Amino acid sequence: MKLVARYTQIADDFAVPDFPSAVAAPKLLLWNDVLAQQLNIDVASAERAQVFAGNLNSSNVAPVALGYSGHQFGHFSPRLGDGRAHLLGAVADQQQQLWDIQLKGAGATPFSRGGDGRCAIGPAVREYIMSEAMHALGVPTTRCLAVVASGETVYRQPPQPGAIVTRVARSHIRVGSFQYLASQGDVAGLQALADLAIARHYPEINTTGPERYLAFLAKVVEKQIALVVSWMRVGFIHGVMNTDNTLISGETIDYGPCAMMNQFDFDTVFSSIDRQGRYAFGNQPNIANWNCARLAESLIPLISDDEEQAVALLSPLINGFSEQFNHAFSQMWAQKLGLDGEQAGDKELVSELLGLLKTHKLDYTNSFDALTESLQGSVAIPSELAAWSIKWLTRTNIDSYPTMRQANPKLIPRNHIIEAILKDFTHQHQSPILNEYLHALQQPFQSPVKESWTLAPEDDENYQTFCGT
Ligand code: AMP
Ligand code: MG
Ligand code: MG
Repeated sequence: MKLVARYTQIADDFAVPDFPSAVAAPKLLLWNDVLAQQLNIDVASAERAQVFAGNLNSSNVAPVALGYSGHQFGHFSPRLGDGRAHLLGAVADQQQQLWDIQLKGAGATPFSRGGDGRCAIGPAVREYIMSEAMHALGVPTTRCLAVVASGETVYRQPPQPGAIVTRVARSHIRVGSFQYLASQGDVAGLQALADLAIARHYPEINTTGPERYLAFLAKVVEKQIALVVSWMRVGFIHGVMNTDNTLISGETIDYGPCAMMNQFDFDTVFSSIDRQGRYAFGNQPNIANWNCARLAESLIPLISDDEEQAVALLSPLINGFSEQFNHAFSQMWAQKLGLDGEQAGDKELVSELLGLLKTHKLDYTNSFDALTESLQGSVAIPSELAAWSIKWLTRTNIDSYPTMRQANPKLIPRNHIIEAILKDFTHQHQSPILNEYLHALQQPFQSPVKESWTLAPEDDENYQTFCGT
């Protein structure tokens, strides 16, 4: 595995050299062979457990922990950073694109702040399955290459077996990375980071000076909008959209407390610590907008020495978020309902449907799947939607089937099945349903082998997720 060092030129305290702490008895639990091939990862099978547990030969790798700040539930922490992650470097794929390789759970770093730097097996497996599912659903996301059991216990409530998950990402540049340098007044570092982010993600930006960083912010806004729209298309609730969990690349990162919405309701929240619903399903666009505003603030020194002038140039991009989002969101509903072109009454058609889904507590995924298949006559329209569908059917026809099919998955990772798998892994380091389920999740637009995988339990509303385990 040929690793290229990354982020080492930004600032002194930005990429801090730190080695993972070796574990006693690593055992490879999950290996993403397709991804490994795409990334030309040639680590021999016999060595994978050692390498991806962080038991590294110090002569050929220079791991770092990255510094970043973050607004967590709206409160600013200037120094968060990788408290349980080590970036090994980047690998080039077959197209010469670079991908960060990061170990999560491989021990404490200078950013651990009293944490143990470890990860329990459940959250490691959750990240692996959820990110595979999201990738197959067409949602931009970080990926997972491996999960290795450490053979050690992590002391959580209750104690659990530990694991190390290998995360693959186009970069690990977060909104919080910019906040980190801005809060230190490091303008040279900010510029170096912005230029690195542009080179990596937005190479089409070829202007210089303030225009360059305004164009950069505009791109990030565009990517965040596309990301949240794709989440909402499939019913994903991230659960912890802090600025440190917002990637400049527009990929989903941090699968800690995430969950999928079953019954449709914009107010759905599963995270046990999100008591105010800050990160509720329907509030995700507002938060993405808020996070982009925090990025804009951090970029002020790159726009002008005159703060007022900088704000005047940056603000329109942030103020334009809602309108841009609403446009993309309408397009998403149009695809999900097979509405060709924009017509008067479409908005009402969509909101009436969403009202019915909520009132009758209908399953988001299955309702849109049924509407899609109803065009082919293979499935009946749910009775609660029958009256509404008379209007809908004047706006669509069988020609919309392919568009709708692409926008409406048949299979999403159901919370209760994921939980059952994580429980299996916690107790016996494997799950009898994992392979079959993962295979089905990799083809979410096809009918799954087991019909029961498309059903949610009655009490899914009471499901709870937890951060940082
Ligand atoms: P997260 O909730 O995963 O986004 O993490 C927020 C912050 O807490 C990040 O700076 C993490 O590195 C840090 N953190 C979370 N869990 C641990 C842990 N077990 N040990 C050290 N740091 C942690
Ligand atoms: Mg260390
Ligand atoms: Mg995080």
